Amino acid sequence: MFDHDVLIIGAGLAGMRAALSARQAGADVAVVTKVHPVRSHSNAAQGGINAALSDRGDDWHDHAYDTVKGSDFLGDQDAIEVMCREAGDEVIAMEHYGVTFNRDEEGKLGTRAFGGQRQARTFFVADFTGQALLHVLYEQIMKEGVRIYEEWFVLRLIVEDGKCVGAVVMEIRSGEIHVIRAKAVIMAAGGLGRVFEPSTNALICTGDGTGLAYQIGAPVMDMEMVQYHPTTLKGSGVLITEGARGDGAYLLNSEGDRFMKTYAPNMMELASRDVVSRSEQTEIDEGRGIDGCVLLDCRHLGERMIRERLSQIAEIAKDFANVDIFTEPIPIQPGMHYAMGGIKADVDGLTPVPGLYAAGEVACVSVHGGNRLGANSLLDTLVFGRRSGVHAADAVKSVSHANLSDASADEDRNRLQGLLDNPEDGGEMFGALRHDLGQSMDKNLAVYRHQAGMEEAVEKIREVRERYRSVYVADKGKTFNTNLIFTLELEFMVDSAETIALSGLERTESRGAHTRTDHPDRDDENWLKHVLVKKTDDGPQIDYLPVVITEWQPEVRSY
Ligand SMILES: Cc1cc2nc3c(=O)[nH]c(=O)nc-3n(C[C@H](O)[C@H](O)[C@H](O)COP(=O)(O)OP(=O)(O)OC[C@H]3O[C@@H](n4cnc5c(N)ncnc54)[C@H](O)[C@@H]3O)c2cc1C
Repeated sequence: MFDHDVLIIGAGLAGMRAALSARQAGADVAVVTKVHPVRSHSNAAQGGINAALSDRGDDWHDHAYDTVKGSDFLGDQDAIEVMCREAGDEVIAMEHYGVTFNRDEEGKLGTRAFGGQRQARTFFVADFTGQALLHVLYEQIMKEGVRIYEEWFVLRLIVEDGKCVGAVVMEIRSGEIHVIRAKAVIMAAGGLGRVFEPSTNALICTGDGTGLAYQIGAPVMDMEMVQYHPTTLKGSGVLITEGARGDGAYLLNSEGDRFMKTYAPNMMELASRDVVSRSEQTEIDEGRGIDGCVLLDCRHLGERMIRERLSQIAEIAKDFANVDIFTEPIPIQPGMHYAMGGIKADVDGLTPVPGLYAAGEVACVSVHGGNRLGANSLLDTLVFGRRSGVHAADAVKSVSHANLSDASADEDRNRLQGLLDNPEDGGEMFGALRHDLGQSMDKNLAVYRHQAGMEEAVEKIREVRERYRSVYVADKGKTFNTNLIFTLELEFMVDSAETIALSGLERTESRGAHTRTDHPDRDDENWLKHVLVKKTDDGPQIDYLPVVITEWQPEVRSY
């Protein structure tokens, strides 16, 4: 058994930022991660991070308003204010730690325009901003002596007397199962993109954190709010950054028309993501697409700009779709990208379960509401990761360890052995189940939704859950049993999927990313509230919380 003051699950930007601040505040901190820290999905973030810096003539209130409007008035405005107010200091802190942000002609930190914002306030490192941030944070936590359990997989959160007191973890290299005891646990296990197929997310984004917390009774919130990004590459679904449109690329339909003028005459390609994705889908559905896609045209940006600021997407388009973006437009379509919902948490990361914090994409502090603005997620991970770490380091001073032993993991050892013992006869491997789940979610909970489709998804999810009981794990070995890991992830995916579909059915209006053809209008009278789902012995239970409004009353949302 291992002991730490603060145990952080996840080594993406949220987890490492939390680790750094908790360590600097004097706590004994450990991070557990199922992949090497710099392989976390944060590494794939391309476009940048938002902040309104006052010495550049920007104002955090404007950033907050853009975020509130982007959220379709579902984001909690007190939390949005915290994020936008602290954004500038956070970006500067990262620069001082060593992130080499792009600079402008005068040598000042450079910005690019991003969707749904009236100011260019996205700070960036070419088109690999996430990688730059992640590597710098990794250096910092190594320097501070944070213990990292690398390639260890969390199986379960341990609860004693209603409090979260640690985790049961499998060392992937040896297959051994351990108990890590902690006075506070910060869940920072990232997103759930792969619950949908295809997705822009890495294969490791399987909703483990959502599932782990949900299993111990932590409520999840706004789960119906799933972001489809407007520019994902035809076929593979790999992301083409919004930075391309921010830097001036156009969207065209099969008639060569910049169709966004019909849907968002002011902001055009830089309207909010939900708006652009819906517009593309309408063009495709009405027959002005090409093979299920529309086109992203970068040609007029010129070779120098593309090589300096968008070199990665030039490579992606070439490698994954054989498209030369210097001479051809890129076929793109809306694709699953981000979960606005997650474990309900406050601005210090506290969840309703004592001892459990949540930060990053796995959490719902409610800063993104119905639709996240591009480049607000990296910001969310850093601001709320830092705040969770600070709060947890302080809270553990008055907490002592729970009475656990290595035997606390015996039931988990038995459960895993049971899974390995499932016979081959009649059992399916994880792949078929994962595929069926993902396809049903993409069909029924995409850009446009309706009751019958979401009910079909719920049925499919329950069917997959049933088939999972006899799932067959072909590899019986102890060492790097990825077959077993993928099978375990599937259970978290099924839980995540169910909360998404149930929340979607619950919300009988259209708001942000949740657009229903059977309830096409936003209904502020009845639905200016969050949908929460909690696991109980009688199955998932739905609850509501009002939206927190400070300055900005709901208004008609147009771009
Ligand atoms: C392709 C792409 C591009 C993006 N570009 C941008 C952008 O330009 N700007 C922006 O603001 N946002 C962007 N986003 C969104 C943003 O990158 C993510 O929301 C954010 O990085 C998530 O960070 P995180 O720390 O919450 O989780 P992650 O970085 O996903 O890290 C999760 C961590 O949890 C660990 N983990 C998970 N499950 C377990 C388990 N069972 N046991 C142990 N460890 C576990 C993983 O090993 C990993 O270390 C992008 C997302 C994608 C997919």
